[in-house]
Amino acid sequence: MKAVLHVTGNCNLRCRYCYVGEKTNRRMSPETARAAVDFAVKQAEKRFTISFMGGEPLLEYDLIRATVEHAEAVAAERKLAVSFRMTTNGLLFDDERLAFCRAHRILFALSLDGDARSHDANRVNAAGRGSHEALMRNLESIRRHALVLIVIACVTPQTADNLAAAMTFLFEHGIDKVILSPDFGGAWDRRTLRALQRGFEAVAEYYVERHRKGDELYFSPFDEKIRTHALGPIRRGVICDMGARSFSVAPSGELYPCVQFVRPETDLRFRIGDVRTGFEQEKRWELVERNRQPRPKCDGCDLDGRCSNWCGCVNHRTTGDILEVPPFLCEYERMLMPIADRVGNVLHAERNQVFHRKFYQDRLEDH
Ligand code: SF4
Ligand code: SF4
Repeated sequence: MKAVLHVTGNCNLRCRYCYVGEKTNRRMSPETARAAVDFAVKQAEKRFTISFMGGEPLLEYDLIRATVEHAEAVAAERKLAVSFRMTTNGLLFDDERLAFCRAHRILFALSLDGDARSHDANRVNAAGRGSHEALMRNLESIRRHALVLIVIACVTPQTADNLAAAMTFLFEHGIDKVILSPDFGGAWDRRTLRALQRGFEAVAEYYVERHRKGDELYFSPFDEKIRTHALGPIRRGVICDMGARSFSVAPSGELYPCVQFVRPETDLRFRIGDVRTGFEQEKRWELVERNRQPRPKCDGCDLDGRCSNWCGCVNHRTTGDILEVPPFLCEYERMLMPIADRVGNVLHAERNQVFHRKFYQDRLEDH
């Protein structure tokens, strides 16, 4: 069971594509954070994960400290395993905070869109100034302390033509795990989609070369598509579970099925309870069940099961309906899949050892 605590509605940045929407002064109180942990513990059988999000969670560092210490104490008492995650823009770290995160094994997902050109196009402060330079100053100490560092990057229509340079920048700066997603709400058109395609083709060449050198890179669009080719289709409701195994806690303590629904303007259709009173089970399972239904427009498509049409939250965000896949996502998947398959075919044919270990051997040993 995973609980995502949105400890603040505020942020030190004003990214142009931010899904959180308007920044607010809503803060999670210490009592709500404790209640959220206790609620997660009640749902847990053997383990639970507490993930910190915002806005920017490090604006509430004292709350995070207290919550981690409480969660560890309760976990020890109940003989449960606990793990921690944090999604952060990385600008508010100092040595003391990093040392705390390291001591408590908090794993980071760091928002970084690549080189300065891509990052600063969108990830700006309230004055409109880019944050790349400041983040790069912090990156070395973050990497020194972080147990596992995953970078979350976003590409928009404005940065599509810089995709290859942006991703190469990350990999050349020692980042070996990147989750890239396009801004599904962006104003994409033929030209920017074509630029995105050229970018992915260039990243594919780079990815193959690095694997040839024996380096293991994780690049989510390719790795995830190759995985669905090697290991079979994704069952709907597994990755995007809509509140079945993970849930988001708003600063107020209200429960939502996913981070995408925690916004200043509450959509009561997706409120599935409160940490103090528990889940509204009927509503929760209705959403879970709906998200497991086939997507009507995908009936008969060969890519169903490999395509990320499973994400009911993105669907809802962009079309207003969990089951209605946005047209851009469909075009994006049709463009991306052949590129990822080419990468997989080349490395498979070359019997690349890193590739085989990643997609076949490790998996077999897991069973
Ligand atoms: S750092 Fe995250 S929460 Fe803050 S403005 Fe950017 S996307 Fe939004
Ligand atoms: S490619 Fe389009 S039609 Fe096919 S499964 Fe994906 S969203 Fe549906």
